[in-house]
Amino acid sequence: MRLLLQLVFLASAAAHTTLPECLLAASVPVLTPSSSSPASAGNFTTAILPFNLRLPYVPVALAVPTTVLQVSAAVVCAGHYGAKVAARSGGHSYAAFGLGGQNGSLVVDMKRFRTLEVDAETQVATVGAGRRLGDIATYLFESAGRALPHGLCPGVGISGHALHGGFGFTSRMWGTTLDTILSLDVVLANGTFRRVSSTQHADLFWALRGAGSSFGLVTSFRFRTFAAPVNGVVYNYTFPSSTSPGAQAAIFAATQGFAHSAPSNLAVRLFLRTPAIELGPQFFVSGVFWGSRAGFDSTIAPLLAAWPADTVHGVQELPYLDALVSFNNGGQLPQPKEYTEHGTFFAKSVVTPEALGNASLASFFGFVADATDAPVPWWVIADLYGGANSRISNGDAEGASYAGRTAFFTLQLYSISDVAQTGPYPAEGIEFMDALSRSITEPQGETQFMAYPNYVDPTYSAEVAHGLYYGEKYERLLSIKRRVDPEMRFWNPQAIGVE
Ligand SMILES: Cc1cc2nc3c(=O)[nH]c(=O)nc-3n(C[C@H](O)[C@H](O)[C@H](O)COP(=O)(O)OP(=O)(O)OC[C@H]3O[C@@H](n4cnc5c(N)ncnc54)[C@H](O)[C@@H]3O)c2cc1C
Repeated sequence: MRLLLQLVFLASAAAHTTLPECLLAASVPVLTPSSSSPASAGNFTTAILPFNLRLPYVPVALAVPTTVLQVSAAVVCAGHYGAKVAARSGGHSYAAFGLGGQNGSLVVDMKRFRTLEVDAETQVATVGAGRRLGDIATYLFESAGRALPHGLCPGVGISGHALHGGFGFTSRMWGTTLDTILSLDVVLANGTFRRVSSTQHADLFWALRGAGSSFGLVTSFRFRTFAAPVNGVVYNYTFPSSTSPGAQAAIFAATQGFAHSAPSNLAVRLFLRTPAIELGPQFFVSGVFWGSRAGFDSTIAPLLAAWPADTVHGVQELPYLDALVSFNNGGQLPQPKEYTEHGTFFAKSVVTPEALGNASLASFFGFVADATDAPVPWWVIADLYGGANSRISNGDAEGASYAGRTAFFTLQLYSISDVAQTGPYPAEGIEFMDALSRSITEPQGETQFMAYPNYVDPTYSAEVAHGLYYGEKYERLLSIKRRVDPEMRFWNPQAIGVE
């Protein structure tokens, strides 16, 4: 019946003269620069604002469907008028790929797909594609004492996050968000609907988990959940601003040495930021131990022994949800239906499969010490992904297109226009961040550095991005793309198949 409706609609799509008219005829709520359907919410100019204000793309129309049939109709209309399609969930793409990464795409905003349920028997969570991480965490914990591994910012949308990885402070213990996907409901490029899992359309399931934005428009997820920890020991160790570049490199090296055998219930994050602007401490290590205080003390002891004696520390036992709030600097987890936060930034990532050697660390900390006149405020976050006990590293390397399983550390290099993030981002900022990145990678030419597709860097050509995000998995992704989306309907400048 659904297929029949789709075919009837497809035949009638030709009767309209513009894409927005086609959407309106199919009863898809839509906002355009000139008109809004009665069923749509809000105003076009406000609705298309990206999280990253640096990249204000203007879509041809913004569909805001409420049903799977409307999603399907939107994709069919786009096909009829030759428009590229991008899905938007939380809109937090660093490159505004949720707006298509260009002007003129059809954006399908999934914000009205708000299902949030957990099955009392199986503890499997069903989550609509428009939900944000903070709402999901709160609901799972409060209704069932359950949790998912996911990122630290509660405003991030589940879809982009889960389809391209999804790392947070429980990931070494439970895996990435992507690892917990049991099945996905998805609308394909020809408008058909599929439920995909390891046993249904397994090739698509493989491709969607790592490169989802290129393969379909996910409407709903089913996730395996975990019993939430009762408490976390949240810690923060700060090194004095007088710490020399050599001593900083030694601290980083000691942390890497410790990380190889760190238990899976320990999250470790090194944080280094611009010395030029007063944003708080410049160099510190933070994270959480999901266990008792006594367990934390004995686990962390070898690391403390390797660090300078004048390290300042803060250690606090917090209930699970309070720990999540503390990772967000006190910001609350539940999110408003109409999200209004924005930043103005450029970021990129370096995924290293092995420890950074002395040359790389000396170069990096030396570069930072010399960067007193950086054109933008910046920070680098180095998250421990791997080590012998990590669930990320020990997952099935070939089981999904996500290629980040080999990561030992993932470094995120983040810069903002100005402290308030209200001014324009200067072009020299990108050059500076590229140089900062090269200060890490160039001294270690033999290492196969990669990048994280959730920290998408739009300055890469498609070819470079494909290699950095997917490595050897790219060829299989390309063959699936050619089969399920030969006309490249789902598109952004770095989508699978873009040359
Ligand atoms: C402030 C901030 C904090 C962050 N913290 C973390 C963190 O702690 N850990 C981490 O791993 N990452 C983190 N990220 C990165 C984040 O995971 C990615 O930016 C993620 O892709 C955002 O997903 P979204 O749905 O909000 O974004 P969107 O811009 O809506 O989408 C991102 C991409 O996914 C596609 N997409 C969206 N919805 C769908 C759908 N339904 N079907 C198919 N494709 C879809 C879009 O087309 C786009 O290509 C953070 C980002 C920001 C801005």
